[in-house]
Amino acid sequence: MVAEAIVADCIVVGGGLIGMFTARELALSGMTVTLIDRNQCGQESSWSGGGILSPLYPWRYPEPVTRLAAWSQSHFQNLTAEIMQDSGIDPEWSQNGMLLVSMEDELEAERWAAQFGYEMHNLMKSELTQYEPALEKHFQRALYFPDIAQIRSPRLVKSIKKSLVVRGVDIKENTSVSKLLIDQRGISGVVTNHGHYYADKVVLCGGAWTGQLLAELELQLDVEPVRGQMLMYKARPGLIQHLLLSDNVYLIPRRDGRVLTGSTIEYVGYDKMPTEQAADMLHKNARQLVPALEKFPIEMQWTGLRPGSKNQGIPYVSEILSTPGLYVNAGHFRNGVVLAPASAKLIADIIFQRPPIVEPSWYQVSETVT
Ligand SMILES: Cc1cc2nc3c(=O)[nH]c(=O)nc-3n(C[C@H](O)[C@H](O)[C@H](O)COP(=O)(O)OP(=O)(O)OC[C@H]3O[C@@H](n4cnc5c(N)ncnc54)[C@H](O)[C@@H]3O)c2cc1C
Repeated sequence: MVAEAIVADCIVVGGGLIGMFTARELALSGMTVTLIDRNQCGQESSWSGGGILSPLYPWRYPEPVTRLAAWSQSHFQNLTAEIMQDSGIDPEWSQNGMLLVSMEDELEAERWAAQFGYEMHNLMKSELTQYEPALEKHFQRALYFPDIAQIRSPRLVKSIKKSLVVRGVDIKENTSVSKLLIDQRGISGVVTNHGHYYADKVVLCGGAWTGQLLAELELQLDVEPVRGQMLMYKARPGLIQHLLLSDNVYLIPRRDGRVLTGSTIEYVGYDKMPTEQAADMLHKNARQLVPALEKFPIEMQWTGLRPGSKNQGIPYVSEILSTPGLYVNAGHFRNGVVLAPASAKLIADIIFQRPPIVEPSWYQVSETVT
C-alpha cells in the first residue's frame, strides 16, 4: 500500500557524507531536495572515517583522484565555517600537516608535488625530533606536507546534517529504498518502505550498497564493501602535533588529545564486527610509530565499510545515460571524506549542465549490461 507520495525536484538516496554534501549542493543551487536514508544519516562509513583530508600517499593515486581532492582541499576550510554557522557544531577542521616516514618512492612524491603544486619538504633526522618529539627515534627522514588538514568525521556528520535542515532539505530517515521507479522517459522516483517518493532526478549515494540499488537495471557497479578498523587512545593534548603515516598505519591527533590509529583493509563482505586480531595489530603498529602511546588507554575500537572501487580509487560521479534523470555519486573508497565536497559539486554541475569543476568523463559509469 502506498502510504505517502512525496514530490521533490531531486531525491538523494543515502545520507552518508557523499549524500549529505550532494543534497546541500543541490539545495543551494535552488532545488527542492529529499534525502533518504534507511537508518540515521551518517552512521555508516562516514561516521567511522579518520577524517584525514588527503589520500594517503597521494602521489600513488591517478590524476582524477588528485584533481577532486585538490578542489575539496582548497574549499574545505570555508565550507566547514559555513556549515558550522548553519549548525553551531564545530567539526574541528585542523591543519596539522602530515609527516610520512619510511617510504621508498620519494622521487615520485617530489615529482607529483611539483606537478600539482603541493608544498612538500624533506626532513632530516634532527628536524624530525624537533617537529615531532614523540616519534620513534629510529626514523631517519620524512616527507612533510604542511597543508594537509583533518576533520573530525562524527562531528562533520552531525554538523552537516543540521545544516541540511537549515537549508531546507527534507530528511527522511529509517526509510529504505527498495526499488527505482523507471518508465520510458527515465527515472520518476523511488519505492520505499514508507511509500513512493517522486522526482525527475534521483542521485544514488548508497556507499558500499550502491551496487544493490542499481542491480535492477542490470548494471554492474564495481563498488564493494571494504572493512576498515580503527582504535582510539585517550592520550593527552600535544602528545602528537601532526598526522603521522608509516607503511599504511596512521595516527591522527584530535584537539582534545585523543589519538586515532588505523586502519585495516579487509574484504569480508558486509561484516562489521571488530576483531581482536586487528586491535592487536593496530596497537602494535601505533606504538612502533609513537612508543609513548603504550602509556595511554585504548578507549574505543570500531569498524566501517568503505565503498571500495576497483578503479584505482576513482569514484563514480556520473549520470546513468540509459536512464535519464538517474545519477550516481559513489565508490570513494578510502577518500570519501576529502572527496565529498568536490564530488558533490561535480554531480551538481552535471545535473545543472554547468561548466564542471573537473573533467567529468574520468568518473563516468560505463554501462556494460551484465
Ligand atoms: C576506518 C575508515 C577510515 C577512513 N578514513 C578516511 C579518511 O581519513 N579520509 C577520507 O577521506 N576517507 C576516509 N574513509 C573513507 C570514507 O569514510 C568513505 O569513503 C565515505 O564515508 C563514504 O561515504 P558514503 O556517503 O559514500 O558512504 P556511507 O557513509 O556508507 O553512506 C551510505 C549511506 O547510504 C545508506 N543506504 C544504503 N542503501 C540504502 C537504501 N537502499 N536506502 C536508503 N539508504 C541506503 C546507508 O544507510 C548509509 O547511511 C575511511 C573509512 C573507514 C571505514
